Amino acid sequence: MKNWRELQKNRYLLIASGVIIIAIFALLFMQYRSAKRTQEHSQKTMKANLQLHLFEISEEAKRKILDHANHILHGVRQQRIRDRNIPSIERAFTRLAKRYPEIEDYYVVFFDSKKENETWKALKFVRPDPNDPNVQTYEGIPVGKVIEDEAVSQSLHRAWDSIQNKESQTTLYTAFDPITVNEKPTQYFFHTVFELDRLKRTEPLENIGMLVFSANPDEFPSKDYLQKLVAKHQKRDKEVNGLVGKLDYTISINQNGVKSDLISTNKDVLPILSRSFEDSDKLFPNLTFGVSAPDIEAKTYANEFTQSGIFLGIVAVIAAIFGLVLAWKATQREMELAQVKSDFLANISHELKTPLTAIRAFGDLLNSGRANKPERIREYGGIIKTESDRLTALINNILEMSRMERGIRKYKLEEGDLREIVSETIEVFKHSPEAAKFEIEPRLSLQPVITKFDEGAIRQAVINLLSNAVKYSGNSEKHLIQVNLKTEENEAVIEVKDFGVGISKEDQRDIFLPFHRSKNNEIQAKGGTGLGLAIVKEIARGHGGEITVESELENGATFRLSLPILEEIVNEEVEKDGTYFGYRGRAKRSYRPAR
Ligand code: ADP
Repeated sequence: MKNWRELQKNRYLLIASGVIIIAIFALLFMQYRSAKRTQEHSQKTMKANLQLHLFEISEEAKRKILDHANHILHGVRQQRIRDRNIPSIERAFTRLAKRYPEIEDYYVVFFDSKKENETWKALKFVRPDPNDPNVQTYEGIPVGKVIEDEAVSQSLHRAWDSIQNKESQTTLYTAFDPITVNEKPTQYFFHTVFELDRLKRTEPLENIGMLVFSANPDEFPSKDYLQKLVAKHQKRDKEVNGLVGKLDYTISINQNGVKSDLISTNKDVLPILSRSFEDSDKLFPNLTFGVSAPDIEAKTYANEFTQSGIFLGIVAVIAAIFGLVLAWKATQREMELAQVKSDFLANISHELKTPLTAIRAFGDLLNSGRANKPERIREYGGIIKTESDRLTALINNILEMSRMERGIRKYKLEEGDLREIVSETIEVFKHSPEAAKFEIEPRLSLQPVITKFDEGAIRQAVINLLSNAVKYSGNSEKHLIQVNLKTEENEAVIEVKDFGVGISKEDQRDIFLPFHRSKNNEIQAKGGTGLGLAIVKEIARGHGGEITVESELENGATFRLSLPILEEIVNEEVEKDGTYFGYRGRAKRSYRPAR
């Protein structure tokens, strides 16, 4: 029930907490959604980029392969074909065969374009047999031969015929023999040779001959060549095309339905996208280019985004929770203070009423003249005096507290012997009715305890400690209170020790706060305002000292008021009438360092 009431009081805080937490979660959710969308979006973009990249590199490879083929055949001087200089062609082919071992066979074709079918003549290059003693040599090097081969001639012719558009003025055409010989498709690279003077006269071009080589797709272009192509891309790829990370490439070949990798930059990665050369390219239809990007899932982009978002979110949640806890604590504290104040009001009315009732009752008695014996009159007068003293003390405490709270309590620090003040105070206290049943044992230092202090304030502090000792001695057998006064290093120490109800660890923390009283029933029954110790604490502070307590429940308490032994008071704080706004002194220890 109590908790429910507290919750009710805190409802604004609760609502605020709820709203903040919901807002943070909404923020996190939006962050998550937007991270997801970014991921999807960048994934799509990356796929598109990868597609484009694959298209680019396979086109480039195609161009390069053709350039390469063109370059190989262009190395043979065209004049030789026009002159039909067979020995010279044989020597050129010998050189090429040595330089490009990956190329299968070389051919030279002669024909007259007008009567192509009748004049078509293809000669195949046969590599020199190093074991043949009759082999022809040129400058000491064995030279191969071009020989007529009907089957080859027909195969080349069929391939040439299969090329649709020969008007494009390109010098290089590629084609497969439409009739597969030996189940192995052979690709021919035709390098046309035009008659130069016709070229000059810009008449319709006519071929007068061709240099040809045939290639096996898994040998030409050579693996080395493809490797270099791919390596070049891999180096370049890093930040181009909006793709992240190092790309991996595969070039695979499909032979009789079996696919195998010619080149693979990373055996563990399967290509994400792949592209084969189109049929219309007539260029290695069984070659497939594949590419894979490690970050195609757009993980890096999106993860970084998500991670930083989530991190920020978590920081926000922690900050909000921290803020809420602080706010909650502050409200809790406020509520406690409010509670303490209301307790104080209840207590104070009670504290005021008790002596007032007595004063009034005995005043009435005296007034009515019913008490006529002199000893009665003295007794009643005594009661009225004691109760008024109590009332005065109470009002003084309240005034004192209010002065302290407003920071206008002044201390007049004067040098003197604390022993006098403490023993006088004990004497006075001993004779108060509340101390009647107590033995107060002063254990005062034999040496004078000289320091600068405000006499009235110290008396008040000692009285407050003594009254508490008496008040909270409970039903203990031992009605004893000890007061120690001693010098410790550079401090004068006053200790008030009782053997009463003691103070729990939890209460020890708060008892010096104004209005705070232990919730303990035994203590509550005693009545009080919770100001006594707060005043002692303020007095200690005003002297640059402190008040501490050592206690255990049911085992009495020892309050220790320590005051520094001052050598000097900083003058600027002295007012004209010699009063000080609290402690601004310098302790001996810091003033004269030990040697
Ligand atoms: P009051 O005595 O009017 O309640 P004080 O400020 O003097 O106010 O004391 C605050 C509280 O500290 C007391 O209510 C009590 O709980 C505790 N206390 C103080 N002195 C003693 C003591 N000698 N033994 C046990 N508890 C004490």
